[in-house]
Formats: sequence, structure tokens, C-alpha cells
Amino acid sequence: MFTSINPATGATIETYPELDADGIETALARAEAGFRSWRDSSLEQRTELLGKIADAWEANKQHLAETATREMGKTLASAIAEVEKCISGFRHYAKAGPGYLEPTTVQTAGGGHAVARWLPMGPVLAVMPWNFPYWQVIRFLAPTIMAGNVGLLKHASNVQGCAALIQQMMGAAGAPDGLFQNLAVKSDKVAAIIADKRVVAVTLTGSEGAGMQVAQAAGRALKKVVLELGGSDPLIVMPSADLDLAAKTAVTARTQNAGQSCICAKRMIVHADVYDAFLEKFEAGMKALKIGDPMEKETAMGPLSSVAQRDTVLEQVERAVAEGATLRFGGEKIEREGAWMTAGVLTDMDPESDVAKEEVFGPVAAVYKVADIDAAIALANDVPYGLGSSVWTQDEDEIERFARDIQAGMTAVNALLASTPEAPFGGVKLSGHGRELGPWGLHEFMNLKAVMFG
Ligand code: NDP
Repeated sequence: MFTSINPATGATIETYPELDADGIETALARAEAGFRSWRDSSLEQRTELLGKIADAWEANKQHLAETATREMGKTLASAIAEVEKCISGFRHYAKAGPGYLEPTTVQTAGGGHAVARWLPMGPVLAVMPWNFPYWQVIRFLAPTIMAGNVGLLKHASNVQGCAALIQQMMGAAGAPDGLFQNLAVKSDKVAAIIADKRVVAVTLTGSEGAGMQVAQAAGRALKKVVLELGGSDPLIVMPSADLDLAAKTAVTARTQNAGQSCICAKRMIVHADVYDAFLEKFEAGMKALKIGDPMEKETAMGPLSSVAQRDTVLEQVERAVAEGATLRFGGEKIEREGAWMTAGVLTDMDPESDVAKEEVFGPVAAVYKVADIDAAIALANDVPYGLGSSVWTQDEDEIERFARDIQAGMTAVNALLASTPEAPFGGVKLSGHGRELGPWGLHEFMNLKAVMFG
């Protein structure tokens, strides 16, 4: 059984039965059969279905959002924004997808030519986390549908209500049988599903531990894998930055989703000339954060997703302090039922300490002072991760340095880093490999066939 617990109250919401071996077999057979017909669907059928799914999400926006808020604690406002992003994801692939799949013709030696065509591959398994219980899935599902593939979802154990709703929306939109199936299974069933010959590839978003397990299973079966793992993103502030906007954005970047986003800015790296001024503004924003009932409109931060997740963050804060950091305020448990804690700020972190190298998946920021851009880039790169980054400067040369030298899949310039359906999303180093979104995400799980003409 899966149990969904409301992290704002500690109350059990619902239990969901786990799929047994027969259920998994039926789903795999259905995926295989579903692929046999969906692979032959026309581009018009695919775009039409994507539009209908977007309409179904539009019509059920409030219910979808409330379910996410209840299951994992994000504010209702951010849950509604997440649902809207999913709708834009479906609509993006409906509009741009056919163009992404245009064949390319190249001339070949000897006067012939080759046509490079994008063909579907088969059923793809997605192993997804709870932090954006819809968007993480949709950025896999929308391109899957457009590609002519079919999808299987193993969602996180604590958001099975959201997973069931995604399935329901597909039904409401009239998706053909087997195009998408939610597999209510625990993680110990994943390796066998990957090994099954009917599954052609796997994509995972989550921790590097889960990523390694899934990549090993995919490697044993020689199947393609896309991994979107953790991050410890830097937000770098240089002397020419708009400090008010940088500090305000840093607060949002650290505390959005209660700090539980892979692309949250987790380390603020600030030039010495503006360190004191930035810290004052940033701390004022972190202290003023309105923590409370995630269903309330004016709440900026609700609980964390679970007591276990909250306790992991508290333990990291405790360890950081034991390793020499200064906890300036916050980062503490709030004494009430549920998974509550305050936002906090750490300074004087030793960049070589254990916690400084880890992903802190909660609302506690580390603020560092650096002497110049070289030191900023060196510190930004001094973690095992390389997912996102955000840089604050008006200097074009500095922007170019950051764009070139920060080891990350994404760099936002004078802006909050956020995923968007049009741009590539993914990381380097322990943040994973492969890309989601845009044409790149669509092409990851397609067969680029060369059709050769002599
Ligand atoms: P996990 O990585 O454990 O969970 C993500 C998904 O992977 C879930 O569906 C989970 O299933 C599944 N999973 C876990 N272990 C395996 C495995 N061995 N084989 C196959 N599937 C597996 O994240 P947690 O929820 O445990 O969070 C732990 C930490 O991971 C966080 O503190 C954060 O640092 C990081 N994280 C990063 C995310 C990101 O967006 N990059 C998202 C979530 C977490 P199940 O729920 O059933 O265990």
C-alpha cells in the first residue's frame, strides 16, 4: 500500500494499492500494444490529442492543484502555476512538435543524399519525484506523445494521488489505450521493468542514489537513460548588480517549493564589495517570508514534503554548524504537527566541509564572500553538481565569462532560473546527463534513422 500524508497536518489523506506482478505484466503488454498503433499515428492526431489533454488540465486546474498541495505541501498558488506550466508544455509540443520532427536532407559523397528522419522507439519508463508532481511528469509525457512513443510512470510513493490524476486526465482527453499508464509500484520493482524487453528506455528525475541504481539497471540491459539529478546551484552577485532585485530573487530562488527544487539557488556567492549590502537585504527577505497554511493565498512557504525530508535538512544544518558554519537565524523545526521548519541563512561555511558539497533540499541558504570573478567561478564549480546557476551583473565581459566557465547545464542572467518548455533542461557532472524539453528532450528517445539514396 501507498499512504499519502498531508505534510501540513500529518493526517493521512488516502491509501493506494500497489500493483501486483500480474498488474505489471498487463500494463507492459498494454504498452506494447499501445505503441504498435500509436507509432503509426499522424502528426495531426498527436497534436490534436496534446491540445485535448491541455484542455482537460485547464478544466480541472483547481482540483489538480489542491491535490498537489495536500499531498506534498507546496502553496496552492505555486501548485496552480505548476498546472499552468504543464498546460503550456502540452501546448508547446502541439505547436512546435511537428517542426521539431521535420526530416533533414544531407548530400553524401558520390552524389547521393541521405534523409535523417525521427522515428519513435517504443514504451519509455519515467521514474519521477514528488517535488513538482505534475511538471516533472509532463516534461516527459508531452514529448513522448509527440514522438509516437508510449509512456509508463513510476511516480514517487508519497504522491500517488497526483499520479492517479495524471492518468485520469489522459482518459478525460480520450487518449488511446496504453498510451500512458501509471504504475503504482515501489522502487524495488523498477529494475525488472527496465530489464523487460518491451521497455526501450528510461528517464529519471531524483537523487543521485536513485539515478545510479536506475542507470545500472539500464546499463545492464543496454538501454538509453536520461538522468536529471540534484543540484547545488550558485547565485553569483557582482558589484554592478541590481542588489534589490538580486536579493529579492535570491529569496524566491532559495525558498520556492520550500527549497525543494533541483534548480533552487542553494549557494549565494557574493563579491566582497557588495557582500554586506546584499546580505542585509537577503536576510531581511528570508526573515519576512510568510510561512503558513499552503492553501492560504498570502502564504509564501508551506511545510516541507515530509517529516523525513524536513529532518534531513535539519540534520544538514546541524552538521554545517558542527563543521564551523554560522547559523545567522532560522533553519529550525517549527513545533506543530507536520513537516514544518523556518527558512535560514548560513555564513562562514568551509567550502571543503561535507555539507558544502551536498544538496540541501530545504529553505536554508549558504552565503559566501569572494574577492573576484575567478574566485566566484572557482567556488561555483567546487561541488560535484552542475545543474543550474544564476548570475547578477551588468558587465558584458563578466556575463560571457559566467556563460562559458560555470560548469552547469543552465545559466540565468539577471533572472530567476526556471525551466521553460522551449529551452533545454538538464545538467552535467553528478546532476545527470541528457536533456529535457524543446527539440532536445523530444529527440532523446527517438531513432534518428538515415535513409540513404545512392
Ligand atoms: P529519490 O531520488 O529517492 O526519489 C525519486 C524517484 O526515484 C521516486 O519515484 C523514487 O521512488 C524513485 N527511486 C528511489 N530509489 C530508487 C531505486 N533504487 N530504483 C528505482 N527508483 C528509485 O528522492 P527522495 O524522495 O528520497 O529524496 C531524497 C533526495 O533526493 C532529496 O533530499 C534531494 O536531495 C534529492 N531529490 C532531487 C530531486 C530533483 O528534482 N532533482 C527530486 C527529489 C529528490 P519512491 O518514492 O517509491 O522511493
